[in-house]
Amino acid sequence: MAAIGKSYDGGVPISAGAVPGIDETPLAERASNADRFYLMRVMPPEGGMAVNAAAMGAASIGEGGTGDPSSSVVIAGAGIIGLATAWRLLRQGLEVTVLDAEPVSGATFAAAGMLAPVAEVVWDQPTLYPLMVESGKLYRDFAQAIAEESGHDVGYIENSTFVCAGDAADRQTLSELVELQHDMGMEINRITATEARRAEPALGPGCVGAVDIPGDHQVNPRLLADALLTILEDRVIRTRAQEVIYDSDRAIGLRGADGNDYLADEVVLAAGLNTADITGLPENLNLPLRPVYGDVLRLRVPARLQPLVTRTIRGVVQGRPVYIVPRADGTVVLGATSREDDLTGVSAEGVHQLLRDAYRLVPGILDCEIYEMTARARPGSPDDVPMIGRVAPGLTVSTGYFRHGILLTAIGSKLTADVVAGRENDNNPALLSAVDPFRFSD
Ligand SMILES: Cc1cc2nc3c(=O)[nH]c(=O)nc-3n(C[C@H](O)[C@H](O)[C@H](O)COP(=O)(O)OP(=O)(O)OC[C@H]3O[C@@H](n4cnc5c(N)ncnc54)[C@H](O)[C@@H]3O)c2cc1C
Repeated sequence: MAAIGKSYDGGVPISAGAVPGIDETPLAERASNADRFYLMRVMPPEGGMAVNAAAMGAASIGEGGTGDPSSSVVIAGAGIIGLATAWRLLRQGLEVTVLDAEPVSGATFAAAGMLAPVAEVVWDQPTLYPLMVESGKLYRDFAQAIAEESGHDVGYIENSTFVCAGDAADRQTLSELVELQHDMGMEINRITATEARRAEPALGPGCVGAVDIPGDHQVNPRLLADALLTILEDRVIRTRAQEVIYDSDRAIGLRGADGNDYLADEVVLAAGLNTADITGLPENLNLPLRPVYGDVLRLRVPARLQPLVTRTIRGVVQGRPVYIVPRADGTVVLGATSREDDLTGVSAEGVHQLLRDAYRLVPGILDCEIYEMTARARPGSPDDVPMIGRVAPGLTVSTGYFRHGILLTAIGSKLTADVVAGRENDNNPALLSAVDPFRFSD
């Protein structure tokens, strides 16, 4: 049994176990079944000589949107969404191929991995909360199943979150948010700055009030993605998806930048911010994705200060959000700015802001060693809610996960896999309607 995350003091150690509702047949057992050997169709364009890629383990499962059972899927994008969707479909018996020139190079690479359905609640996002809450409920089993199947730690830790106020005005903002969170039935407890400091001695005098959120946890997105890559093995092909291939009005594959056509019964576009750049989306579909950049620092905590903090410390400092997420390996992630400018690299002002605001709450942050500075763009949607659903026969999109994509991966990959398998109606209709990919189209 693989442990899926080491725990800090006060955290809940998790061990892997069976996941209800998921085919638990070991992968190796399924793959060794010779009767189910399947030949994935990988063709050069223009009907030239076929390049064979023998692949294992396909079987018919459910309806692929046309009444025919689907047995293969090709996915554009090996970020957390494409990978987790591929994993779910593989477990359901589909033959899976994922195309990405640089797997895990987008937002997933930068993300801190806070699983924060409560702390992330803000006003005027009524369709987002149910998705976040539902995904939060699925996460433990989701992370556990991936850890068990891959044999890798995915850094899932149930160690709660403090949200701290940097001054009196921030404390007022926090109070108003707490009221909203209570109205929504969320578990959140006001604590004094003294109580917060007792639990987290690294908190400085700049923390003037706090709330404790027991239900907000973390996962390490890079470890989670690595575990998925391990499971998917050579099903992830290093090439960019250029174009959707159609037979009449049905999508039948993706044309790769490597010159090959990757044919399959179902096509999924999960290329984050770049999803709408893939040629061949239906003309009546508008996917208004925009880049919202975030700067993130990764720091090593010196041995004498270990552990700097034992849970995620979020803060509001003069209205600006900041967070420090402690990893089990003694490092911390400090993030993140939110910019809609044209700087694609790390912003000097962003780094300054993060260090200044984090210092106000946890002064010891300045004694740490920065070992990585990263900036990536979040795939923003106009209402902060992802766009998931079938957009043409054989073609499904799953994108726009914005600032909550790591949290939403558990539910987003499930909805996407259910759409591909023709089982979307097994889900709450309100969730499906919230993510309707046509909601921004005329
Ligand atoms: C700084 C920062 C911090 C964040 N922190 C959190 C957090 O704490 N918690 C949380 O829940 N969320 C967080 N997020 C949001 C989260 O990271 C994203 O919502 C999520 O990673 C989106 O995943 P994705 O797979 O859709 O996109 P991405 O991770 O961007 O992956 C898209 C992939 O598609 C590939 N691609 C692009 N074009 C093509 C093509 N034509 N063909 C094939 N492949 C292609 C790219 O190479 C990339 O690998 C954060 C984001 C940022 C930037």
